[in-house]
This record gives sequence, C-alpha cells and structure tokens, in this order.
Amino acid sequence: MIRVEAPAKLNFSLRVGSVERSGFHPLDSLVQTINWQDELAAQWWEDDILEITGAEDLAGGSAELPTGTDNLIWKAAEAFWQSQSDVRRKPMRVRLNKQIPTAAGLAGGSADAAATLVALAGLTRRSIDHGGVPAIGSDVPFALLGGTARMEGYGEQLTPVPPLSDFSLVVAVPPVTLSTPAVYREWDRLGGPAGPAIKGRSVPPSLRGHDLVNDLYRAAISLAPELVEHRDHLGSIWGREVAMSGSGPSLFGFFGDLDEAQEAAAATSGMRAVRAVDPVSHGARVTWDESDYTDTVR
Ligand code: ATP
Repeated sequence: MIRVEAPAKLNFSLRVGSVERSGFHPLDSLVQTINWQDELAAQWWEDDILEITGAEDLAGGSAELPTGTDNLIWKAAEAFWQSQSDVRRKPMRVRLNKQIPTAAGLAGGSADAAATLVALAGLTRRSIDHGGVPAIGSDVPFALLGGTARMEGYGEQLTPVPPLSDFSLVVAVPPVTLSTPAVYREWDRLGGPAGPAIKGRSVPPSLRGHDLVNDLYRAAISLAPELVEHRDHLGSIWGREVAMSGSGPSLFGFFGDLDEAQEAAAATSGMRAVRAVDPVSHGARVTWDESDYTDTVR
C-alpha cells in the first residue's frame, strides 16, 4: 500500500484572458499549495474501488462527490495507464480521506487526481508522463508541482517562484454554491471584467510586488450576490482585505503568523469550513510506501 497527501491550492491572484476558439480561457495566476490536504491510500485489488471518508464532515460535500468513473481519481488513473502501454494494467482500491471542501475554488479534485498519478507511479515504479497531465484538468500540473508558482496558458505553463514564508492565512468557505464553468460563462457574459485588487497592509511584504487581483470575482458575485456580504463580514472580523481563490467561493486573508491566523479562524462562524493554514513547498507526495516491488512488476 502507498499513501499520498494532496494539498489544496489557493490563487493569490488570477488574471483571465478572453475565451479562445478551444472554448478555454488562458490564465495568468500566482498559485500556492497550503497545508489543507486530502489523503489517499492505494493498493492493488481485485476490482477498481473507491471508498471516501471525511466528506460527511464537509457540509454539502459528500453528495457532490462521485465514486464512479466521474471521479477525477479514475480519470487520472485512466490517463496514467494510457501513458504506460508496456505495463500490465491492474485494478486498485483507493481510500480517500476527503478534507478539502469540494467545489470551493481550492482544486481538491485536481489534488486527488495528482495524488492518484503519484500513487500509481509509486506502485508501478514508473515515472509520470507529464505530457498528458493538463488534459486531466488545468490545475493538475500545479497540484503535482506544488509550492509557489506562476501558472500561465491553460495551467500547463508553470514557473516556480521562491517559497514565501512571511505569513499564514485563514481560508473560509462560505455556504455558497458556485460551479467553475458557470463562473467562466458569467465572466464572458459580463464582458470579461477585471477583478478588485487587495492592497496595502493586507498584503504581506513578500507579495507586495504582485498585482493581487481575482478577475473572476465580479462574475462570482453576479451569480451569488450574498458572497459580497460574506466578504465584508470576514473583512470586518479579520480587520483586513479579503481575497477570493479561483472561481470561488473560498475567501482568504493574510496574517502575520499562525497564532494570529488561528485566532481569526476561531472568531469566524457561519462558514461551510474555515481553517488557519500555512503555505507549503510541495504538491502531491508520497508519505508512506510499503508496496512490494516484486508484486508491482508482474
Ligand atoms: P477548480 O477550482 O479546480 O475548478 P474546485 O476546487 O472549485 O475546482 P473541486 O472540489 O475540485 O472544485 O471539484 C469540482 C467538482 O468536481 C465537484 O463538484 C465534483 O462533482 C467533481 N469531482 C470529481 N472528482 C472529485 C474529487 N476527487 N474531489 C472533489 N471533486 C471531484
């Protein structure tokens, strides 16, 4: 069996370009993995089986989570086997401890997909074929790389940025439902508006050279106007400007250290989930491996 941890992602900034003929929007985003993660355990089994725990604690989460072929875990497994034509395909049992809130703008599904690739690479003693990874999902290449990076194109162009460590964060998921494709469609319908920037002392010194803007914010509040109240409410209890991650609805603020962030998280109520977190310098990675090599190559 092999265990892999799969950290969530925040978009510190997200610039969106006009929709292209492919139907996709090019992005320019500063992304970061954080220590809020799913855990995945995988082993060879008689059939493909996915067991999910933890999701019941994420209010509104478990109902949205498919266990069948729609789960990104199986999409990633399929991509892995397609790229390894000389290895005999084997079914596996995957146990997923789901901690990252779903449909939140934290790329939890992409984290699980990346963790599946890492698990299968470990179990088969093969390398991941990175060429096919963006097709699984635009956040999957970054979910493998992790740390701090500039993400461009459709998520496949990644430039690592030196690690940032002069702050902690509070991430809060308001009780608002937003679907990523719907937010992009709304952004197109609104004519591609630029997002508001967070500035001044709300931004830690290491990020002051960056333009911290989320272009999807206006589309998100057009679909879910109550998000404005949640953002204002968090801004007043946290005493700083609040930013949105990805297509929302997750909101976050920067704090001087983890103690300060934990205090702010403890004072936050009425959210689907809230957590004080730190940036981490890795993506999906093996935490424990007792798989048997002789078993994997047969
Ligand atoms: P992104 O910002 O990458 O679009 P998100 O963080 O808003 O994603 P996710 O939690 O990654 O949202 O998932 C979005 C949808 O994908 C879910 O509503 C669910 O139906 C589907 N999905 C498929 N597999 C998974 C998975 N392993 N974990 C979470 N969601 C999954």
